Amino acid sequence: MKPGRTIIGLDLGGSSIKAGLFPVENSAPTRTLILATPAHEGCESLMDALIAAVGALCPEGLSDVAAIGIGTPGLVDDNGLVHGPAVNLSAWQGTSLSASVSERLGVPCVAGNDGSFAALAEARDRGVRELLFVSWGTGIGGGIVCDGRLVTGNRGMAGEIGHVCVDPSGPLCGCGQRGCLERFTGAPELVAAYRARGGTAVPEGADGALFPELAARHQSGDPIAEAVMEAAAGMIARVVGATMSILAPEVVVIGGGVPEAIPQLPDLVARALTQCSFPYLLENCRVESARLGNRAGMAGAAEAARNLSERRS
Ligand SMILES: [Zn+2]
Repeated sequence: MKPGRTIIGLDLGGSSIKAGLFPVENSAPTRTLILATPAHEGCESLMDALIAAVGALCPEGLSDVAAIGIGTPGLVDDNGLVHGPAVNLSAWQGTSLSASVSERLGVPCVAGNDGSFAALAEARDRGVRELLFVSWGTGIGGGIVCDGRLVTGNRGMAGEIGHVCVDPSGPLCGCGQRGCLERFTGAPELVAAYRARGGTAVPEGADGALFPELAARHQSGDPIAEAVMEAAAGMIARVVGATMSILAPEVVVIGGGVPEAIPQLPDLVARALTQCSFPYLLENCRVESARLGNRAGMAGAAEAARNLSERRS
């Protein structure tokens, strides 16, 4: 059988599935589509939606597809087994995602955490081999590329910098620990901090959904919003600075919905890092905004599939 000339990247999010068809030899997709995620309909429906996305992407069949990569929130080990509960996607827990999709479609498949796959895509886009990715949104995730390879760690947990403890007496986190970075800097916590500091009344509603309002106030110069974001950038920087001492990255990439809404944040983190990182490391490390935006998960899933097909050939 001749080797496949295309690969597929799937990014399974809580609200949408992003799918892309890529040539094996480069990272520009030739076809993309977005489908709604049936988040609350159980594992079978999620699986059917993934299969439907692949079918819509390749109406001519899968004979030319070398491999499929799937990124998903939650903890995904090297066997593609989903361990941790993922927001909106708890039906996945205990599922071997890569084995299930591979069995249904007859194509080799690799699954991984979406933050890790985003790190892989941002590293490939820059041509760097040492990269730390921070995904700053409702929660805080991340990914690590060392020596050009994605670091997944035991049970796929490497890069979970949102669950670094910054205050042992802080609020309880969903992971079971107290005072995680995420409990101070996630989008809902930023809105709560703005309210607690006496920020001008924000509309009633869930704090997470109100983050765009906080971002707009920050961009129009609201001093309390600016103070909240500066403090949050400082906390992110302290954890990034500690991580830099361990990994010595060439680039730290700050991505996710929060810096997309407030593009100055990577610079604020970089400035804060001058107070809390090894100067020799920092002078050889760039702090940058994500380049791939919400396409990073899909592009990284494709990159992981590309690596899988290279290992198999
Ligand atoms: Zn936690």
